Amino acid sequence: MAHRAAGSFAAVMTRAFVSYFVTLLCATALAQTRTVHVGILRDRQVDGIVVLSAGGGYNIMADGKKVGELLSNDGLRVSTAGGKLQAKSLAASFTAGYIELIQKVPLSAFRLKVLDSKMAERTYPGHLRIDRNGVRLQLTNHASMEDYTAGVIQSEAGKDHNAEYYKLQAVACRTYALTNARKHLPEGFEICDEVHCQVYRGRTSNPDILAAVAATEDMVLVDARIKLIHATFHSNCGGETLNAEDVWSKSEPYLRAVVDSFCMQEPHAVWTRTIGKADWLAYLNKKWKVNTTDTNAIASALNMEPNRRNLYLPNVQPAVPLEDVRHDWKLNSGYFAIHTIGENVVLEGRGFGHGVGLCQEGAMHMARTGMSYTDILHHYFTDVHLVDLSAIDFFRDENAVQEKPATGASPATFEGGGN
Ligand SMILES: [Zn+2]
Ligand SMILES: [Zn+2]
Repeated sequence: MAHRAAGSFAAVMTRAFVSYFVTLLCATALAQTRTVHVGILRDRQVDGIVVLSAGGGYNIMADGKKVGELLSNDGLRVSTAGGKLQAKSLAASFTAGYIELIQKVPLSAFRLKVLDSKMAERTYPGHLRIDRNGVRLQLTNHASMEDYTAGVIQSEAGKDHNAEYYKLQAVACRTYALTNARKHLPEGFEICDEVHCQVYRGRTSNPDILAAVAATEDMVLVDARIKLIHATFHSNCGGETLNAEDVWSKSEPYLRAVVDSFCMQEPHAVWTRTIGKADWLAYLNKKWKVNTTDTNAIASALNMEPNRRNLYLPNVQPAVPLEDVRHDWKLNSGYFAIHTIGENVVLEGRGFGHGVGLCQEGAMHMARTGMSYTDILHHYFTDVHLVDLSAIDFFRDENAVQEKPATGASPATFEGGGN
């Protein structure tokens, strides 16, 4: 009896111990193997591709079953025919509903060429999934969060930046990817590789970018409620960023207007655009019902010198939102002065992009002057905290009953990370 009792106590303890360890291992594994499902080559129609191994090797799976391996001296050519995917290599030929190339080792990478296209070959990390979308191919790259982040920094920021700048860009890109992970779920992937989400052209081997990603591994930005933020960024704010609600429909406590003197000497600080005076007035009248025959009413629409960033054309009725003017005339920004010279109006503008969140050129300037990436992030995002992803998982589990996961935040409210 005593023996049985002891036995069952031991069994209970063992079960508790095992369950604790399994939970711990799962949590650790989750943090380490977080992958991003990126819809790639979304800027073009892809009829056929050739995939080659860029080292490490791949298992080729057709409809979930292994049909071969991608060897270093062979390539897999995939196109569609007869409502199926048609695949061919030197070693094999098969049809399938979907094809996956699964990494044999974590460092495996693949090279991708598009048939009948001038697109330069690209190298991607992680797995590749190929689906059929009508007569075309739909390609999804399953990359680790860190590989994906490094690739985005390469595409969005390019080379030759300060280490602190790469670090803040890593935190912002990673946070953006997680916050927007549901943007494309109806299409079968999480995030696209275009400016709509974040530009991603595959793997990078830039040592400075890789070092910055490693130094900030798993670090993300959250707001005061420990919710992942919409880490939006733009090229140049022109001296003042905007509140989120000034540009989009929703306000956020961390996307507040801040004065920024750091971007004023940078490449996209100023711009000029000349428009025919008659075209300008016709636009104001047709779209915004401004009475353009009343010279008093349109005085400020023809000559205006803003001393700060406005949301509407000052002293013009009915209201003309500058954000709409920016879109309608494809201007670099909605922050500009107006001067009438002869039969033209000259818009003298400041900044480039939507102006909400992080100003990239201001951040680059700050990084060059020796400021840390954390101080720069705090300058542009109000009342945010830099935390490890596992901390969010912890809080998310705690709040699972009361609150939706942070990544479930309204998907289409904010524009892409870029402009
Ligand atoms: Zn997208
Ligand atoms: Zn700025």
